[in-house]
Amino acid sequence: MSLHIGCHLSSSKGYLAMGKEAFSLGADTFQFFTRNPRGSKAKAFDQKDAAALVSFLKEQEFAPIIAHAPYTLNAASAEEKTREFAELVMQEDLARLEHIPHCYYNFHPGSHVGQGAEKGIALIAQILNQILKPQQQTIVLLETMAGKGTEIGRSFEELRAIIDRVELSEKVGVCLDTCHVHDAGYDIVNNLDGVLAEFDRIIGIGRLKAVHLNDSMNVCGAQKDRHEKIGEGQIGLSAFERIVRHPALNALPFCLETPNDLNGYRQEIETLRAIAGQ
Ligand code: FE
Ligand code: FE
Ligand code: ZN
Repeated sequence: MSLHIGCHLSSSKGYLAMGKEAFSLGADTFQFFTRNPRGSKAKAFDQKDAAALVSFLKEQEFAPIIAHAPYTLNAASAEEKTREFAELVMQEDLARLEHIPHCYYNFHPGSHVGQGAEKGIALIAQILNQILKPQQQTIVLLETMAGKGTEIGRSFEELRAIIDRVELSEKVGVCLDTCHVHDAGYDIVNNLDGVLAEFDRIIGIGRLKAVHLNDSMNVCGAQKDRHEKIGEGQIGLSAFERIVRHPALNALPFCLETPNDLNGYRQEIETLRAIAGQ
């Protein structure tokens, strides 16, 4: 079995172009923003281009790809308008993603902005209950967060609490970001087995659908969220070797979000394939 790995790519040239770019980097998965991560307007949807990507991914036997929601959305906002906007954007994104069957839609759960985690969790679940549909093919992923500010998703318990409130919870999974969990205080460097056992006990390892591979500029528990190149941060290459080889993880799509240009990504993909022994 081979390692499924790719990186975050710009969607500015379109869907098929992203697939080809990923392939040229030695990737067999990738991630992209569904729209400008800071803005809100999505480009007009090109159904033909999406269909061309779907056949390309099938031909090249890609693993599932990841669509990332804009990180400025806040489903846990205290402002009704902000929550309505998040719901609208996510609903529109999910409708489009039905044209790319069986991809993942990853989002940052949100920040409770002082209302308290419990309130934030309820608001996030409320939006998921509005947008998830029984017939949809996309699985929505809650990303594990570093816990900066009032971010929700800093602990496995918080993610579990969201999932518990979602009616169509079979449409919800988790994306584990290595920088974020490390910064949130989970010691994946010295105790990867323990962290994954805790994930399994609290959330259930079956919910884990994808991994963001990022080294961290900061120490474990710093709650910072500053990504570093693989092997150049506080997590280090030997920990990444254990991560990509771990039997609970090694079949999942891994996606790099490190500070790199395309050539840097190509090299990291090559390095990780080599240390995974594949
Ligand atoms: Fe993210
Ligand atoms: Fe991430
Ligand atoms: Zn991050």
